[in-house]
Amino acid sequence: MKSQDYIDLDLRFGAHNYHPLPVVISTAKACRVQDPEGKTYLDFLSAYSAVNQGHLHPHIVAAAEEQLRRVSLTSRAFHNDKMGPFLKALCEFTGYEAALPMNTGAEAVETAIKAARRWGTEIKGVPNGRQKILCAENNFHGRTLAAISMSSDPDSYGNYGPYAPGFVKLPFDDARAVEQAIDDDTVAVLVEPIQGEAGVVVPREGYLAELQKICEARGVLLVFDEIQTGFCRTGKRFAWHYEDARPDIMCLGKALGGGILPISAIVADTEVMKVFTPGSHGSTFGGNPLACAVGMASLEVLEREKLDQRSFSLGEQFRKEVEGIRCRSKRMVRGRGLLNAIVFQEGFRAWDVCVELKNEGLLAKQTHGNIIRFAPPLVIQEKEMEEALRIIEKVLVKF
Ligand SMILES: *Cc1c(COP(=O)(O)O)cnc(C)c1O
Repeated sequence: MKSQDYIDLDLRFGAHNYHPLPVVISTAKACRVQDPEGKTYLDFLSAYSAVNQGHLHPHIVAAAEEQLRRVSLTSRAFHNDKMGPFLKALCEFTGYEAALPMNTGAEAVETAIKAARRWGTEIKGVPNGRQKILCAENNFHGRTLAAISMSSDPDSYGNYGPYAPGFVKLPFDDARAVEQAIDDDTVAVLVEPIQGEAGVVVPREGYLAELQKICEARGVLLVFDEIQTGFCRTGKRFAWHYEDARPDIMCLGKALGGGILPISAIVADTEVMKVFTPGSHGSTFGGNPLACAVGMASLEVLEREKLDQRSFSLGEQFRKEVEGIRCRSKRMVRGRGLLNAIVFQEGFRAWDVCVELKNEGLLAKQTHGNIIRFAPPLVIQEKEMEEALRIIEKVLVKF
């Protein structure tokens, strides 16, 4: 079958809840993917940063294969011999005392919301049902009902009511708005340290640290959704590491599974995590031994290959070079590490650029019509980055 046949099948039998670029991927290795016709592309999306370690990293594949010969799923009704070591490694990697494993990013966000609400009632003393969480406009926290109840994007929340109450949307990058909105019922402030889906919106320096100070002073939990920004994507292990802004809870996902399995988690100190008691939260697949083996290997790759440093330096080069490209419609290049975006003028159809880039052998996807995110696997080699920059230049000069 040809690419078009697979696309037709998707359209014929699938719900139309995505609008993908017309490209079919059938194999992948590190930074490159290949279609059924044998054409290769540089992957500059990395499955929204779930493939930071590169496609099918041999160390992670080996861990998965090894575990597939032992045991894959036990449920949490029993202990398994992979979860403890994985959670220990995750706590050491992140610098927190405890971790709770789930599967998808949205579930990590749900878990953080539940932790914050319980903490609010049991530790802070907010009457149950009154807990309030402050979030940011233009956020993206996933697709569950609680997550879309926080959304300000009608495409995400439209006609899915009734929505979960207890969320207050405030402007992003405005610590004063947060300070003023905190009241006796406020249990948490939840933001992405860099808004990924909104188009890689990097807040002003100091914003995260200000949020941290405000939350500490007012007895409110600070929750960062690092699902897209975490695990070396932005040039540090976590995006908040650019500032003195340690959150009380981090939501993690995407690259925690090394592009092989959906693995998510929250991490927090015991003071917060202790609100969970037997029966109060869980997941059939969360913490399964296969996921834990893969998660452990994924963390090892990030650490051994120093992907934070690679991401930092290649990111600097990427922004510098893209800034220099002559392109009439380009307005701005922004980002940190290897999470970057080109912002074009209002009303510009970035889709057309993505199609051209695809034709030239580079895959990237627009967000919000006029913005393209560029997020290659962090294992990208210097030569591959140069090749990518040549393609981007060749295409951008036409616009
Ligand atoms: C992708 C993403 C999510 C949701 O993760 P899923 O695995 O798709 O549920 C949540 N928050 C942020 C910031 C994300 O980028």
